[in-house]
Amino acid sequence: MTADIQAPTTLRVPFSDLAAQTTEVRSKLDIAWTQVVDSGRFVGGSIVERFEQEWAAYCGARWSVSVANGTDSLQLILRALDIGRGDEVVLPANTFIATAEAVALVGATPRFVDVDPRTLLIDPEQVAAALTPRTAAVIAVHLYGQMADMTALSAVTERAGVALIEDGAQAHGAHCGSRRAGSVGIAGGFSFYPGKNLGAFGDGGAITTSDETLAARLRSMRDHGRSDGDRHVHDTLGTNSRLDALQAAVLSVKLAHLDAWTDARRSVAQDYREQLPENLVQLVEEAPSTPSVYHLAVVRTTQRDVAASGLARAGVETGVHYPIPCHLQGPFRGNAQAPLPVAELAAREVLSLPMFPNMTSRQVAYVCQTLSAILTPV
Ligand SMILES: *Cc1c(COP(=O)(O)O)cnc(C)c1O
Repeated sequence: MTADIQAPTTLRVPFSDLAAQTTEVRSKLDIAWTQVVDSGRFVGGSIVERFEQEWAAYCGARWSVSVANGTDSLQLILRALDIGRGDEVVLPANTFIATAEAVALVGATPRFVDVDPRTLLIDPEQVAAALTPRTAAVIAVHLYGQMADMTALSAVTERAGVALIEDGAQAHGAHCGSRRAGSVGIAGGFSFYPGKNLGAFGDGGAITTSDETLAARLRSMRDHGRSDGDRHVHDTLGTNSRLDALQAAVLSVKLAHLDAWTDARRSVAQDYREQLPENLVQLVEEAPSTPSVYHLAVVRTTQRDVAASGLARAGVETGVHYPIPCHLQGPFRGNAQAPLPVAELAAREVLSLPMFPNMTSRQVAYVCQTLSAILTPV
């Protein structure tokens, strides 16, 4: 083993570093928080509305409706479109479980499809093949930071007359051509969980849409189905899924830095691309029309578990997104479902390397050198 020669010093490389990000915006946060405290308005209100306008503008959508978390954003979109029992919703098997939960929680049946072997994103051809007369919607998940092929997906859903919904929880600010995540489908769901590219200091989420009726319906549904004019009239069945003003204040401050943080993430990815031993590990492909915002730096290797444990011993934290595809998870295993070979193979080969805006080139080089030292040519 040449590990000792190639990696003489142990450099601790965390998976992510939220504290460094917070430090960058700390003084602005202190001011923003004080404003919320002084306003006495802690749920909804002008600070939340301001963030909603900023988020809609950022995404290139006409409206944004903030909600309590990303899972709710998807669930509310489905409910607002009257999708439920008896309907099928097509979604990729390779996604975070929340996408599938949202479908099941509204009473609809998830129809998992396989992913593109290069990008590991929902495959438009598989979507076309999975459509049935009961299909009500397709959820395009922009996983790892890269938007799904929305051009091909829009063609499929428009032809079939079904709704195209975006799960942008890992793709804040990502592009497909000139369009941003959350501006292509009928609506897009976002999460502001702390570890996402735009993260609150707790749970948070938002929906983007350019459909005025849908936006109004969502605004009512997230607040107990209240009608616009009278808070004691509840026309639709709603729920409580609102964003706190403290979270909105944090998000507004951080949104001003998001593009710079995305650029930094992209430059870390570029370093990985240049320095990874590519005969042994490959970054998941980025298609030219869908540049990634690198929520995660996912590589594939046939020696995934060796790589993960070797990196851990060298002080490098990694993750796996995701070791079990959704169609093989407990709540969905019972569904009649053909094997999905691409997603199932990917689940055994994917490894998420450290990725955060403040990651240094020294840290990237250390991760790459450690990988070269621990993996053996096969
Ligand atoms: C994080 C995430 C969600 C859910 O967001 P929460 O805010 O945790 O509810 C949904 N889909 C994807 C792809 C995610 O990564």
